[in-house]
Amino acid sequence: MKKQTKAIRIQAERSQNREHSVPLYLTSSFTFESVEQGRAIFAEEEEGNIYSRYMNPNVDEFVDKMCMLENTEDGLAFASGMAANFAAIAALLKSGDHVVASKALFGSAIQILSKITPKWGITCTFVDGHDMDEWEKAIQPNTRFLFCESPSNPGLDLIDLEAIAQLKAKHNLILAVDNCFATPVIQTPADWGADLIIHSATKYIDGQGRVLGGVVCGREDLIKEIRFFARHTGPSMSPFNAWVLSKSLETIHLRMEKHCDNAYKLAQALEGNTALINVKYPFLSSHPQFELAKKQMKMGGAIMTIDVKGGFEAVNELSKHLKIASISPNLGDTRTIITHPASTTHSKLTLEQRAEVGITDGLVRIAVGLEALEDLIEDFEQALEKAAAFINKEEVV
Ligand SMILES: *Cc1c(COP(=O)(O)O)cnc(C)c1O
Repeated sequence: MKKQTKAIRIQAERSQNREHSVPLYLTSSFTFESVEQGRAIFAEEEEGNIYSRYMNPNVDEFVDKMCMLENTEDGLAFASGMAANFAAIAALLKSGDHVVASKALFGSAIQILSKITPKWGITCTFVDGHDMDEWEKAIQPNTRFLFCESPSNPGLDLIDLEAIAQLKAKHNLILAVDNCFATPVIQTPADWGADLIIHSATKYIDGQGRVLGGVVCGREDLIKEIRFFARHTGPSMSPFNAWVLSKSLETIHLRMEKHCDNAYKLAQALEGNTALINVKYPFLSSHPQFELAKKQMKMGGAIMTIDVKGGFEAVNELSKHLKIASISPNLGDTRTIITHPASTTHSKLTLEQRAEVGITDGLVRIAVGLEALEDLIEDFEQALEKAAAFINKEEVV
């Protein structure tokens, strides 16, 4: 069966009610037929549900679909993408271990690796993601973990997944890839050799801006260690969120095709707009890693960035004139969203940290939604015209 079919057809076991859509298992715990059965299930001699911090039919169904989509042996769901991120690091590393990570990471991932895990003696070196020599030079005898995001948020920098997987194999490390922007519809890092694939399910996996969720898929032995950590520290996904997310996976292929088509065409329409310094999108030939994008991504993704002439003031003016696009820190919604990373998601970084990953004051991330393309093009063009007029007037004064 094709993945599209499986994403629709994988289901928790049907109950005696013969329901078509999976019921919502809102229960904190499960019952045993006898104390002996409880003993056997706890001793792992018999399979069965125990408690929803450990497992739940809705959560398990969601994880089964994610592992199928990511081509991995096992997986685990979390309350949010950051809970997934943190659990993978905290479960697998110990004091004295070292991480090499790309600089172009989600803001909170940088905070974890630069401020939180160092408290427990886990250190991190940040490198320029596309420079493989930098990755290799940063590896120390105590390095255990490589962490990257491709395409990165918000800079849309790509990491050569084949090259980095070769590097981790050479040094016998664990490679974790945040696959949030691409989704498994566009790229499956496990096929290149990644050991762990991390997602914020809040984004395209939900796809409709409703619930938080996270997932780690990957090698069975590593997931086993993360599962031990998660079961006892409790960052579990709620059954309700799992039910929503599993339903969403039924349409992820369809949604991503339309998202990517809209994003590609909006990027083409805005490229060359005189109000902009540049437009960045992995499948535009002007993207510095266009060839790599074509190699490892089936489609260009749903995120593009524009760098607006005139910085913060111009972006602010643009935002006031957009009639359709929302202003929000989220992405991966049916609704087109603009985000100004310098003042929001990446505002906690220093100026130098922002400059290193190309987050200028004029940079706007556009998470292109599923509205009619013509409406989106018209909306951005008219708002950019007004932003440019505003800036020109300011300059005259
Ligand atoms: C949003 C996001 C996260 C964090 O996920 P949450 O579900 O908000 O905790 C991590 N990585 C990337 C790339 C993201 O976009």
